[in-house]
Amino acid sequence: MRVGVIGGGQLGRMLALAGLPLGMDFHFIDPSPEAPARELGHLIVAPFDDRAAMFDFAQAVDVVTYEFENVSAPLLREVQVARPVMPSTDALETSQDRLSEKRLFQSLGIPTTRYVALDHEAELSRAIEQTGLPAILKTRRLGYDGRGQVPIYEPGDAGAAFQTLANAPGGLILEGRVVFEREISMVACRDQTGAVVFYPPGENVHQGGILRSSYAPFRESPLVRQAESHVGRILEHFDYIGVLAVEFFVEDGILIANEMAPRVHNSGHWTIEASVTSQFENHLRALAGLPLGRTDMRQEALLVNAVGRMPDASAVLACPDVHLHDYRKAPRPGRKVGHVTALADSRESLEELAPRLFEMVPFERHG
Ligand code: AMP
Repeated sequence: MRVGVIGGGQLGRMLALAGLPLGMDFHFIDPSPEAPARELGHLIVAPFDDRAAMFDFAQAVDVVTYEFENVSAPLLREVQVARPVMPSTDALETSQDRLSEKRLFQSLGIPTTRYVALDHEAELSRAIEQTGLPAILKTRRLGYDGRGQVPIYEPGDAGAAFQTLANAPGGLILEGRVVFEREISMVACRDQTGAVVFYPPGENVHQGGILRSSYAPFRESPLVRQAESHVGRILEHFDYIGVLAVEFFVEDGILIANEMAPRVHNSGHWTIEASVTSQFENHLRALAGLPLGRTDMRQEALLVNAVGRMPDASAVLACPDVHLHDYRKAPRPGRKVGHVTALADSRESLEELAPRLFEMVPFERHG
């Protein structure tokens, strides 16, 4: 099967690394000739809004998927006429706008943060009355890794926060800040017959909005059941095919949905070594109409992202059962350039190793 992946970043690279053993061929479209997936398939270098290039790309494959979320949904709907696009463009379009994402969660009975959408500074003080403070002002579209977000602690911060984001296309959203006990995410996959598999949730730590680490499995069973029920409803809603990730805050024993990603997800990278079948392989199995693989974990896992630059490989790999992934990206502050996954038989062993890993694996933020 020829798989077309929109985006040639690390997610595309890891998809290909999972699909090549299954006999799949990969085609990527990405604006950068340096895209991390370049070595693993045929790369068309073109902007994502280059209609002609997108059609050339789609024509050469059997199925189109995406690892990058900011593709034009109308363009993707045109592509869909020529080739199947999975997961559905509707899921992608919903995830591109924090407002439609929150409305979806509400319509499916999934608790989400208090929020108000706004376009003008004059609307901000009323919005603050509704969300309370502290709050976070976010761009509705195109935010990632902490970009496009400004915290508001005092009413006096509001004007400056608005000005920072005022030029963002697509409007803003104010969210009440959740005082969460934990952040967890669930990765799930649905196949073409409607069968669903859930990975155990991971417990995530973000720094400055960027995922720093994820520990799995998160075991609190009432919350795991809640997550499965919420994620299952989203999958059914879209008649979804492939991997979906949903991030939640845990507050007072309740899950509050933060956002969803209709693709393989950073917080599921530990599935490569720790799970019977990785998120990447299951996504491809779903696309190909193959049976999904088991999602049980072989061992417990701690994922640590390398942000800004790579760690010293010999130091990291001197730790027993630690695996290194280098995305072959140029170093740059704030950029995810690789990750490590440590495996062990218990959480205690991982917690013992964690301080050493955090010291060895760089976290260099932008700005
Ligand atoms: P996001 O881009 O919305 O996933 O935000 C990145 C990270 O910022 C989240 O994983 C949280 O750690 C933090 N964050 C975002 N929104 C909120 C919120 N409403 N309340 C508390 N923390 C938040």
